[in-house]
Amino acid sequence: MKFSVTLSFTNFFLWTTIFCSALEAIEVDNLPISSFVPGGIAVIRIQPIGKSASYIGKKVMLVDYEESQFAVIGIPLDTAPGLQRLKVEHSSGLTSNHDFTVKEKRYQEQRLTISNNRQVNPNENDMQRINRESIEMRAAFAHWTEELTPNFQMIAPVDGVKSSSFGLRRFFNDQPRAPHSGMDIAAPEGAPISAPADGVVLSTGNYFFNGNTIILDHGFGLISLYCHMNTIDVANGQRVKTGEQIGQVGKTGRVTGPHLHWSINLNGSRVDPVLFLN
Ligand SMILES: [Zn+2]
Repeated sequence: MKFSVTLSFTNFFLWTTIFCSALEAIEVDNLPISSFVPGGIAVIRIQPIGKSASYIGKKVMLVDYEESQFAVIGIPLDTAPGLQRLKVEHSSGLTSNHDFTVKEKRYQEQRLTISNNRQVNPNENDMQRINRESIEMRAAFAHWTEELTPNFQMIAPVDGVKSSSFGLRRFFNDQPRAPHSGMDIAAPEGAPISAPADGVVLSTGNYFFNGNTIILDHGFGLISLYCHMNTIDVANGQRVKTGEQIGQVGKTGRVTGPHLHWSINLNGSRVDPVLFLN
């Protein structure tokens, strides 16, 4: 690992090639908090080291931390408790299975009243838009780049009251809907929203449920989402640094008041953002 430090960043691609062929994973400064529950993160030491890994058919990141290799696995919210399997491919061509147990977590119910009924029972045109947008979102969450080094120790993207609302089983106007896939942070309209970690703007847009939205890519399948914004202050492809303003809190899309909805995706699974705030 020491030789990589002596090479400059201008040799980044050479550096990456040498580094990856030697260690097969990106070196990181920290790991997220492990939580073996639906919507949690399984951090598993991989020995002997692997070349690539997958979980329920999706590529999973392998990182190097303190001389060991770890798989950092996002566990989908709809995972049933029990045994799960990570598959690891090795340089030798052999594969190995790493089983881990997901424990039950019973998320509470949340009942919200939405005055705009179309946001609870969308019409046919709305549904076409919603379906188109959900395909776009899934594609963004599946994005994979190895040109960014993920950082798992994030800062809160906005000053405000952080609810523990991730995973809540939601009812809008008494009708069951998808569980809450992020953390809501209450803050006044216009409050600045900052990048919680270095990244690249993967996409921006206005969505039926999410309102004004930014998606940031942090590398290796770690992707974050910011919704209901008043303004979007960045452009697609822009690099952002930790703490840099990306937009302002608003109440666009399906909301009951101004707040930031913040989601984090790992290997396409929405996981609890609180696991990145330490
Ligand atoms: Zn939310």
